[in-house]
Amino acid sequence: MWDTIEYKAKHSIDLTEEEAKWLLERQEPADLKRLYGLADEVNERLNGRVVSFIHNMNVNYTNICEYHCTFCEFKKSPTSKDAYILTFEDVKQRIDSADGELSEITFQGGLSSEVKFHEVLELLSKLREAYPQIHFHAFSPEEIDYYAWETNQSYLETVTQAKEAGMNSMCGTAAEVLDDEVRKKICWEKISSDEWCEIIKTAHHLGLPSTATILFGHIETSQHVMNHLKRVRDVQRETGGITEFIPLLFMPDKTKLGRVIDRSIDRVEYAFKMIAVSRLYFMNDIRNIQTSWVKLSWENALRSLSCGANDMSGTLYHENITREAGGENGEYTPREKFTSEIARIGKIPVERDTVYSYQKNQSTSLRESQHQFLPLDGGG
Ligand code: SF4
Repeated sequence: MWDTIEYKAKHSIDLTEEEAKWLLERQEPADLKRLYGLADEVNERLNGRVVSFIHNMNVNYTNICEYHCTFCEFKKSPTSKDAYILTFEDVKQRIDSADGELSEITFQGGLSSEVKFHEVLELLSKLREAYPQIHFHAFSPEEIDYYAWETNQSYLETVTQAKEAGMNSMCGTAAEVLDDEVRKKICWEKISSDEWCEIIKTAHHLGLPSTATILFGHIETSQHVMNHLKRVRDVQRETGGITEFIPLLFMPDKTKLGRVIDRSIDRVEYAFKMIAVSRLYFMNDIRNIQTSWVKLSWENALRSLSCGANDMSGTLYHENITREAGGENGEYTPREKFTSEIARIGKIPVERDTVYSYQKNQSTSLRESQHQFLPLDGGG
């Protein structure tokens, strides 16, 4: 198997799902070393020694949510003393207190009848007007589904309204694992895998790029992971609208789901494997694989840059979701630390925007072969 996989990786030939699954199941140190080395080689071919990061802020406009996802400690009931709904002034104060000009705001919230779609759109459009230079990376497919239901509209109408209010791209969150067997167990109220893909493709067709995520390290099997990766790759081959793939390691400590998972596996090693296999499976389809200092720690995130990752995520003001679930790695890191730490391991730090504009003029095998990103309705 190794000879075939190495040949394919060196010649940019797609791995089959069986080959990627086989890689994900390797345990021996010698195999892992070979896997990480191969993923690093493919990453260097696509991205050189450049490691990017973004100066961004999370705005979770409310933490009130009526869903019961078993991995989530972020959500609060409306009667909780910690429940909040942010006003324009609240968000403005946060943005104005940021260290230098922010490039991106990730704008998401819980799902609750306390917060109506028209109110969220009003908040977003006021922010858009006040901060025209900031990119608003907004709404998960789950929020779009919820607001489509609340307003009795189609996904197309709902995403169009969000775009008109100021949304520049869609968050590829709420994907969890795109396999309905897993979804029924960990987030049974959420949209199906098909609906997640449909909403992401709707955004792409409206000219809004998105990210794609996977939440791993709980009850999923390697087959579930492969089903997920295949769905993401299929979407990308259809629309070309995914800017990056973000493997999110599940933080079990304070969650209901955390009580039933196998704690004996080496979770950091699993995260490295997920990054490496994603890099090899997505090959030329998704150029950017993100690692997370918030979930893995700085030291491990830096190590993962030798396993296929090329993006260090963001400076992240107000990172609530990981912290509420028991993550201990802080909520903000200044740009200077990104620059110095990335340089310390011999890589080249580059501050990016949401859509990786710095890559646009780079001529690589990926750019030459990547599928065209074609909005169907001429949207920007
Ligand atoms: S993950 Fe999102 S939808 Fe699920 S409970 Fe938490 S806030 Fe609500």
